Amino acid sequence: MSNPDYYQVLGVPRDASAEQIKKAYRKMAMKVHPDVATDADAEEKFKQVNEAYEVLSDPNKRAVFDRGGDPMGHGAAGGDPFSRMGGFSGFNAYAGGQGFDIGDLFGAMFGQTTASRGPKSRVRRGQDQLIRTKLTLPEAVFGVTKPVTFDTYVLCDACNGSGSKDNREPVTCTRCQGRGEIIVSQRSILGEIRTSQPCPSCQGFGNIIPEPCPECSGHGRISQQRTINVKIPGGVDTGNRVHLSGQGEIGPGAGPAGDLYVEIQVLPHDVFRRDHDNLEMVVRLPMALAALGTHIDIDTLESELPDCPEDRRKVHVEVPAGTQSGTRLVMAGHGVPSLRTNRRGETPRGDLGVTMLVQTPTKLDAEQRELLAQLARLRGEAGPEVLTKPEEKGFFNRLKDVFS
Ligand SMILES: [Zn+2]
Ligand SMILES: [Zn+2]
Repeated sequence: MSNPDYYQVLGVPRDASAEQIKKAYRKMAMKVHPDVATDADAEEKFKQVNEAYEVLSDPNKRAVFDRGGDPMGHGAAGGDPFSRMGGFSGFNAYAGGQGFDIGDLFGAMFGQTTASRGPKSRVRRGQDQLIRTKLTLPEAVFGVTKPVTFDTYVLCDACNGSGSKDNREPVTCTRCQGRGEIIVSQRSILGEIRTSQPCPSCQGFGNIIPEPCPECSGHGRISQQRTINVKIPGGVDTGNRVHLSGQGEIGPGAGPAGDLYVEIQVLPHDVFRRDHDNLEMVVRLPMALAALGTHIDIDTLESELPDCPEDRRKVHVEVPAGTQSGTRLVMAGHGVPSLRTNRRGETPRGDLGVTMLVQTPTKLDAEQRELLAQLARLRGEAGPEVLTKPEEKGFFNRLKDVFS
C-alpha cells in the first residue's frame, strides 16, 4: 500500500514547480534508463521515475499524493506482492517487544493485509462498476453511441474533494497521535494479549477533519446519478462488456475513479436471428413458386438504421426453380461485422442465411385438387418412399435448423 516518496525519487523539493519537475525527470530518466544504466535494478528504478513523473506532473494526481493518497491505485489493485510483506514486517517488529499482537499473527497466518500498521489513507480508489444496457439487434450488429444512466459517486463540488468545509488541513488525532490505531491490552490465560484496533476517534485515519463538509460529510464525494454516452462497437453480442477506464465511481477522499463496465443484452428481433457472425432468417415459399423459381427483395437489417445507404436497404435473393424446403441460400457479406479487423485492416462480415420453408397448399377446392392430380399424373409421380440413411444427406440437421 505504500507509495514511494515521488519527490525523493525525482530529487525535488515538495513545493517544486512544474518546470523543476520536468527538468528533474529528464535528468533522472536519462541516468537510470535501462539502455544506459548498468545497475541490476535499473529497470525498476526507471519504472519508479516514470511513475513519479506521471503523478507529480498531473496536478490532480499530485494533490491526491500530497494528501497521503494513492493516485496510482496500488492498494486497490490487490495484486501487489509487497503489501503482504509489509504485514509480516509489522508483526516481526512487534514480536520483539513485550507480548505479541494476536491480530497481526492471524493476519500473517491467513495472508490478510488488513492488519497492516499505520493510519489508513482518506484517499482510496473508487470501485469498478458494472451496469447493463439493452440493445436492439441493429444497434448491436452495427454499433451505436448510447446514453446510459447509472448511480455512482462523483467529486463533491462544495469542498472539491477535500472533505473539509473551509478547506483546512486535517489535524492529527490526539487519541492515537496519528497512528490510526490503538493498542488494547487484555489479561488472559496465556498472559497479556495485546490487540490493535482502529482508533475510534478518527476511524483509523490518524487525523480529524476539524469541520467536515456538510455536503459530503467529509467523504469528499457524493452519490449522484450520471449519464454518459457510451460508444458501442458493431458486432457485440449478449454478455459482451464495454470497458470504460476511469468512468466508475470516484474514490473516498477524491481518490481516483474506478472503471465502468457496460454489459450488453441484445433484444430478440422479429425477423433476424444471430448465429455467431451470421444472420439467419426464414422465408415461407409457396409450393408452386418453389417449383417454378422466383426472386425476393428482402429488407436488410441495415435498413432499420436511420442512415442506411440506399444500396444496402434491400438484398436481392434469387430462388432457383426446384428449391426444396430447408434450402439455405447464402447472401455473403450481409451478416454481422467481426469485432476484430483482419490482417489487411478490414472488418470481415458474416453472411445472411435465408432458409426456405416450402409451403404445401391446404384447403383445396375441387378444381385445385383436380389440377394437382392432373399434374402428378403428367409427371408420372411415384408414391411416398422411405429414405435410407437420411442423416447422410444432412436432412435431420436441416430440419432442426429451420425450426429451432
Ligand atoms: Zn464535500
Ligand atoms: Zn485516532
